[in-house]
Order: sequence, then C-alpha cells, then structure tokens
Amino acid sequence: MTSSAAMLGPCAMDIAVTRDVMERIEREARAAHPRECCGILLGTAQRIERIVPAANVHVSPETHFEIDPQALIDAHRAERNGGPMVVGYYHSHPDGEPHPSATDQAMASGDGRIWAILGKRGMMLWQDDPLRFHALSYEVVEV
Ligand SMILES: [Zn+2]
Repeated sequence: MTSSAAMLGPCAMDIAVTRDVMERIEREARAAHPRECCGILLGTAQRIERIVPAANVHVSPETHFEIDPQALIDAHRAERNGGPMVVGYYHSHPDGEPHPSATDQAMASGDGRIWAILGKRGMMLWQDDPLRFHALSYEVVEV
C-alpha cells in the first residue's frame, strides 16, 4: 500500500512509514470498526516508527475522533524528556475515503504535524499546515 506518488521512487518520498506501523494502524482500525480508531505517531522527521493507540473519547466515535487527552499529555511529556518525537496523529474513516473531513479541517491546528488517515481503501498522510492539509507521499519500509 503506497501513495500515488510511489512511481517517483524512494528519493522523492516525503517520509517513510515502517511496515509494522502500517499493520498496527490497520489492525487498530479493524478492531474499532464501525467506530474510528485513533492514536499518536512517533518517530523522526524522516520516519514514522511507532504508534501509541489511544481511546477515542468523542461522543460520536462512529463519525468523529478525539484522542484521549491524557495520552497526548503523556506523549508530549515523554518527548520533552528525551523520548521519541510526536510526529503526528492517526485515525480511521471506517467506511470512507482517507481524506480530511470537514470536521478534521475544523479541528486542525495548523501545527505542521502529520495526520495519517486510514480509509476503507488505504492510508494517506496529510500535513497540517496553517492554511490547509496537504498530502504527503510516503514509502513503506521494512525497518
Ligand atoms: Zn477524520
């Protein structure tokens, strides 16, 4: 499962995602269905290496997500204490496309972090830039 820019070759990719991360997000999404799963992406500016699954505490989890605030606090505290960088967040669209919804757009803070969205036909990565989300290309790497 790769982005539409996969034909450009590895050097043209914006970021790498480990296969383990891909499989874990897919597993989380299946387990949460028909609700949205959500969590935190950890790694570096070049690679997404780990996920931290979090409870979706939104009152309408079939169509919205809200990452458990405590999970966010913990991840940011760990980063400040020398732990892995909080690269961004992931969530699923159980029966939809992997594009930011109107709600996602409204929730976006424009902080430059990456949003991974897993739709029913695959995952896309989006960067939360101040003016809008823009799609990032990525490659899946083994380690
Ligand atoms: Zn969404």
